[in-house]
Order: sequence, then C-alpha cells, then structure tokens
Amino acid sequence: MTVSWIPHRFVGGVLALDTANTVVLRIDPQRTFDRFEDTAEIGRFAEAASTFRASELGGRRLDASKPRTIAPVVVAIREATDRLLRNAVREGALDTGDLPPLLESCAQGLAGTAEKVGESQKPFGDPATPIAFEAALAVSALSLLRPGTLDRLKICPNCGWLFTDRSRNGSRLWCDMAVCGNRRKASRHYKRRMAQREVDNV
Ligand SMILES: [Zn+2]
Repeated sequence: MTVSWIPHRFVGGVLALDTANTVVLRIDPQRTFDRFEDTAEIGRFAEAASTFRASELGGRRLDASKPRTIAPVVVAIREATDRLLRNAVREGALDTGDLPPLLESCAQGLAGTAEKVGESQKPFGDPATPIAFEAALAVSALSLLRPGTLDRLKICPNCGWLFTDRSRNGSRLWCDMAVCGNRRKASRHYKRRMAQREVDNV
C-alpha cells in the first residue's frame, strides 16, 4: 500500500526530522513500522518534501530518482539522526558517542557532491537544478547540530515523533494538535467512560 505523504507527516519542521519520523511509533515496539520499507516510498517522500520543506530548502527540489540505490545511506542518516536527537531530548545534551554514525553516514550522503550550501538566499544551493536527496538530508541533519536546536526539540508523547517547537513560548506539547492532541483527549475520554461503566455495573 502506498503512503499518502500528507502535511501531517511533515510536522517535524526540518527535513532530517521528517525523515526520522518515517519510522512510526518508535516508542511502541509492538506497533512501530517503517514507511520506507518499500524503497519506492523514498522517492515519493522526497517529492512531497520538496513542497512541504520548500522554505528550508530555499525552493530547491529533491532528486530521489533511484530510491533503491540511495536507500542504505538514507536509512543510515535517518537512524543516526533519530538516535542522536532522541537521546539528546531525553538527556538534555548530545552524547558524543552517538555522533560518529551520524557523521559517517552524512559523509556518505555528501561523497562526490560539489554543492554550494549555506548561503542565506540559497541554503541548499541553486534552486535551478535539483539536489540529491541523500545530500540534502545530510545537510539538514548536520544543521541540527547548531547551538540552540536542542532547546526547541521535543518528542511527541502520543506518537513519539521528533519535532521542533517554534511556538513563541515553547509550549507546544504535540507534534500535531489536530491529530495527536485530539487522539489523546479522545482516549482519555474513552477510558473515563469505561471506568464509569464498571462503577455502574457493580
Ligand atoms: Zn504526535
């Protein structure tokens, strides 16, 4: 079954976090699954991310025309990013032991490229041509090492996704209030009703 890459799947706020979130429910070993299990989804994700992450990418589109070829490096960057940042949110600091896998996988993603990145108007290079997805993913993941990122980084208590809280007072609790916030509220309501029913049946 193909994945609908709807805006909700891009609430991480940064390309590398949205990619980390393509493994769903990491906090629940029984229900977790990988949306990139079918590698064709990498191409479809990159297509959608070109639109939903356009401001981060400076309008540059992502090229993932050979998803099966790039899958190993994409998954390596994804897993290293998730491990480093998930631990960092929990610990409040980056663990240097988690850095080598990220740096090594990013090096693979950038090998052989000659992109000019970091310019304020062209953060991922010239938007006239697309950038290889694995290279853009590496640039995005490395950008998360900037000082101050951790202060805004959170884990959604409902689905376990990583996201950047850009709200003014940093009080965002859910990755997506409309999905996870409401789901949690509904489940609390359901539990209360069931508890009440048990009381009524006594
Ligand atoms: Zn969530």
